Amino acid sequence: MMKKVFRFLLPFILLLITNYNVYCWGFYAHQKTNYYAVFLLPPEMMVLYKPSIAFISEHAIDPDKRRYAVPDEGPRHYIDIDQYGKYPYDALPRKWSDAVAKFTEDTLKQHGIVPWHVQTMLNRLTNAFKEKNFSLIMKYSAEIGHYISDAHVPLHASSNHNGQYTNQKGIHGFWESRVPELLAEKEWDFFVGKADYIKYPGDFIWARVLESAQAADTVLLYERELTKQFDDDKKYSFEERNGKTIRQYSSAFTIAYNKKLDGMIERRMRQSIYAIASFWYTAWVNAGQPDLKSLIAQKFSEADIKEFENLNKQWSSAGKMIGREEQ
Ligand SMILES: [Zn+2]
Repeated sequence: MMKKVFRFLLPFILLLITNYNVYCWGFYAHQKTNYYAVFLLPPEMMVLYKPSIAFISEHAIDPDKRRYAVPDEGPRHYIDIDQYGKYPYDALPRKWSDAVAKFTEDTLKQHGIVPWHVQTMLNRLTNAFKEKNFSLIMKYSAEIGHYISDAHVPLHASSNHNGQYTNQKGIHGFWESRVPELLAEKEWDFFVGKADYIKYPGDFIWARVLESAQAADTVLLYERELTKQFDDDKKYSFEERNGKTIRQYSSAFTIAYNKKLDGMIERRMRQSIYAIASFWYTAWVNAGQPDLKSLIAQKFSEADIKEFENLNKQWSSAGKMIGREEQ
C-alpha cells in the first residue's frame, strides 16, 4: 500500500525538487574552458593572462549572471537556427546588416544572436588592446570566452533547447553540466596545442554554430534511445546539494550517455578552448600586438570592483532568468 502511494506521489515529489537552476555550459565548464585557453597563448600574451588566470576563469560566468538582470542579455547566448529553414540555413544571411534587412532586428533577437555577438565582442576586445586598457581586456576576454563556448553547444543552436518539445526536459543541463562535472576531471584532456590567428572570424564562428546545429539531433536522439534501456529509478538518482535533495541523472546513465556520444562533449570543450584562445590572440594581433608587460602591475578600479559586486548581488537576489530558461 505504502509503495503504491509513493509511486503515485513520486512525479509530484520529483517536480518539487528538480526546480533548481542550471546554467548554460554549467558554471563548471565555462570556467574550465576559459582557464585552459590561457595555456594556448604565445609568451607575449601569457605574461598578462597567466597571473590573471583566476579572474579569467571566475568571470567566465558573468554573462550568465547578467541574464538575471539585463533583458538584452539572453539572446546573446544562443541561436535557434532551425527557425530559418533547413541545414545549412542559407536563408539566413550571415552578415548582421543583411540579416536585419531580411528578418528585422526583433526577430533575430527573438531567435538568438550568438554568432554575431561573438564578433561584436571581438571588436570590443581588439579596441581594448589598442587602448591598452587592462580592465576592459580582462573583462572582454573572460566574456567572449563565454559566448564562444556557448556557440559550441549543440542545444544552443536548436529551438528544442531543453528537450521541451520531445519530453526530454533537463537534457540541456545534463549535456553541458552533469556530464562534464562527473567526467572531465577524471577522464578528459584539455591541453590542446596553441592558438591560431583567425583570418575570418565571422566564417569561423558560423562554422562552429553549424556544427552545433547539426549535432543537436544526435544529442536529443541518443538520450531518448538510452532512456528506453533505463528504468526511471536507474536513470535518476538523488543527491544532497547545499542542504537540498535534488534529483539528477544517475552516474550510470551519465556514463552511458557520454559513451554513446563517443566523446562529443569533451571534443566540444576542447574546440571551445582552442577557439577562445584563438579569438583572444586574433584580437591582440589585430590591435598591433601591443606590449602587455606594462599592464601586469595594473589593478581593477574601485568602480570595476563595485560593478562585479553589483552583478553578484543582482544575480543572487534574482529568482529567475529573464527570457527563456534552460532548466
Ligand atoms: Zn551562456
